[in-house]
Amino acid sequence: MKEIILVKNGELVLKGLNRNTFEDILIKNMRHALYPLGEFNFVKGQSTIMIESPAGTDLDEAESALKKVFGIAAFSRAAVCEKNMGEIMKTAGEYLKSRLENAKTFKVEAKRSDKAFPLKSPEISRELGGYILRHFKNLSVDVHSPDITVTVEIRDKYAFVRGESIKGAGGLPVGTSGRAVVLISGGIDSPVAAYMMQKRGIELVAVHFASPPYTSELAEMKVIELLKKVSQYSKTITTYIVPFTKLQEAIRDNCPEGYFTLVMRRIMMKISEDIARKQNCRALITGESVAQVASQTIYALQCTDEAVSLPVFRPCIGMDKEEIISVSRRIGTFETSVEPYEDCCTVFTPKHPKTRPELADVKAAESKIENLADLIKEAEESARKIFINAGKSY
Ligand code: ATP
Ligand code: MG
Repeated sequence: MKEIILVKNGELVLKGLNRNTFEDILIKNMRHALYPLGEFNFVKGQSTIMIESPAGTDLDEAESALKKVFGIAAFSRAAVCEKNMGEIMKTAGEYLKSRLENAKTFKVEAKRSDKAFPLKSPEISRELGGYILRHFKNLSVDVHSPDITVTVEIRDKYAFVRGESIKGAGGLPVGTSGRAVVLISGGIDSPVAAYMMQKRGIELVAVHFASPPYTSELAEMKVIELLKKVSQYSKTITTYIVPFTKLQEAIRDNCPEGYFTLVMRRIMMKISEDIARKQNCRALITGESVAQVASQTIYALQCTDEAVSLPVFRPCIGMDKEEIISVSRRIGTFETSVEPYEDCCTVFTPKHPKTRPELADVKAAESKIENLADLIKEAEESARKIFINAGKSY
């Protein structure tokens, strides 16, 4: 029996004329996700995309891979058969056998896109429903909340028979909403922020600031590990590791202590913005959440934002830590995030950070670093660029 996967794309249908481009990107992303399993064939339909697998493919693995592709509302596995009622009934009985045996109630839904098919949808449902009742004595019909819905679709060449569909990752295909730089630390929040913006179709470039010897190589490995997890939902993430030691020392040596973190934040934003322009990115992303720490009060955020002109996206802004943690557990980054390595943010942290900083004071603190532009340039020039994807980094 030939089995295929039918993908129902989500918000794509709303995109009118752009729909074709959106679908093409979705197909490219699905092809990438399925690549380790072989060469799949994609056929666009009205509101579904049909995926044909190479012979002998493990469709359970294909299923897990597709669950991480944004832009898929739902998908289902389906059996393909000839377009006649005899074949359809036989296929439904065999293909869904164990599920039908284990249910108490069912209903049949028929969709007939080939209007030349001799039976109308209600007739198809009635005939297949009768067949199922005769062969599965455990079942009765419940049209309102059945344990299983058997769906038959009559298409151009074949009929498809399927059971329940599987919920997809939702969102928009990565790459349909442009590119943005995510500032990624080894913490819990920024990987969640990265994931959330990917879900809205944004392709990421990542920037991480490292301050050896204050931060260890293990801290850097941790960030790479996190980005591998995040890239399971996209493709390769171009990542810049920016040496930050000299800048942090300059902050420590020149600025009033209460402003250390804010000046550091502003410098991180400036460097990220320079990278964004080079990488054709239109926004910056951080894992900040209002008032979570001193550098994330609205006063502090205003001072951070003023350092750059690109928009700053903070998808965690209104979330509690508990909510952020629950997303991080779901996407598999939590365990890595809580490994105990220093981040450059925890180096030289002030005892009494300003929670209501005035922009003018922050800028005055920053201007105490006389050679700031040179230090920034040097850090940018010595940044290391790596490519990270779910399988490997190189
Ligand atoms: P996270 O869990 O993402 O580290 P956090 O609550 O610990 O967040 P901070 O350490 O204050 O908060 O960092 C706020 C944001 O600044 C982070 O979410 C991240 O976007 C960015 N950031 C912090 N440290 C770094 C770093 N070393 N490299 C790049 N970005 C960083
Ligand atoms: Mg942090």
